[in-house]
Amino acid sequence: MKLITTSAIMLSLLASASSQTNQTGGISGAGVAQAPGSQSIRILRSGSQPSRQVRAGNFTGSVRVDPLFQANAPARASGSLVTFEPGARTAWHTHPLGQILIVTAGLGRVQRWGDPIEDIRQRDVVWIPPGQKHWHGAAPQSSMAHIAISESLDGKSVEWMEKVSDEQYGAPRADGPARPAPPTQSRPSQKAIGDFAPKLAELTDNVLYGDVWERPELSKRDRSLVTVAALIALNRPDQLRSHLVKARENGVKQEELIETITHLAFYAGWPNAVTAVAVAKEVFEKK
Ligand code: MN
Repeated sequence: MKLITTSAIMLSLLASASSQTNQTGGISGAGVAQAPGSQSIRILRSGSQPSRQVRAGNFTGSVRVDPLFQANAPARASGSLVTFEPGARTAWHTHPLGQILIVTAGLGRVQRWGDPIEDIRQRDVVWIPPGQKHWHGAAPQSSMAHIAISESLDGKSVEWMEKVSDEQYGAPRADGPARPAPPTQSRPSQKAIGDFAPKLAELTDNVLYGDVWERPELSKRDRSLVTVAALIALNRPDQLRSHLVKARENGVKQEELIETITHLAFYAGWPNAVTAVAVAKEVFEKK
C-alpha cells in the first residue's frame, strides 16, 4: 500500500515536471526506470578487489593497499584500506582537497611539515587539511592500518614528494619526551621481559596497553577493577602486584581494593583471597 502511494506521488511529480518542460514525452515505464533516483544499490563484496602493492618511490617499507571504493561521478571521494608494517610510512605528500584517515588497527604516526609527530591508534580519526605537506605510517615497533578517504580535484587526489628520512621518522613526538626511551621501558612488566622476549614485550605494550586498555568503552578505573578481580580469582600474585599499583593510579581506592578481595573470597576461594591480601599489604605498606 505504501509502495503504491509512493509510486503514485512520483508519477504525479514526474507528470507535472514533464508537462512544464515539454509536451512530447509523457510518462513511460522506461522513463521512470532511467530517472537518476532509481539506480540500484551496489555492494562490493569483501575480497572481490585484489590487494595491491604500492609504488616503492612513494613509500618506505612494506605497505599494502586494499581498494575499497572508487569515485563515482559526480561524487569524487575514493577510499582504500592501507596496512603499514612496523616502520613503514608514506613519503611526504599533499592532498588537494584534504584527507580523512580512520585508524582501524595498531599504533601509528602522522606528522604535518613543521609540526611534531603525533601517535595515532585504533579508532582515531585524522583530518589532513587541503594542501598540507604531511606523512603517515606505522610506529617503529607496531603495524598500523587505516582507511584513507580523499576527494580528487581535476582527477588528482595526491601529490607525492620526497621520502620521510629515518631522522625525520624518529623525531620526538608531540605527546611525549624525546626518544630514545620508548614507553615500554616505563612499564614494570616491560622492564622485566623487554630484552629477553621482545615480541611478548611489544604485544604487551602495543596491543594490550596501547590498544585494549585505551579503548573508551570502559574507563581505566573499571578496567583496573576487572583486571584485579581476574588476577585474584586466577591466583596470579606476580601480575596482581603491578596491577594493584596501576589500579591506585587509575583511581581505585585502597579500601575498595581490600573490599574487592574480601568479596572475591566467596567467589574465587578463601586461599586466593588470603594470597591476594598478602600482596596488597606488601604493595600498600610500601607506599
Ligand atoms: Mn595523506
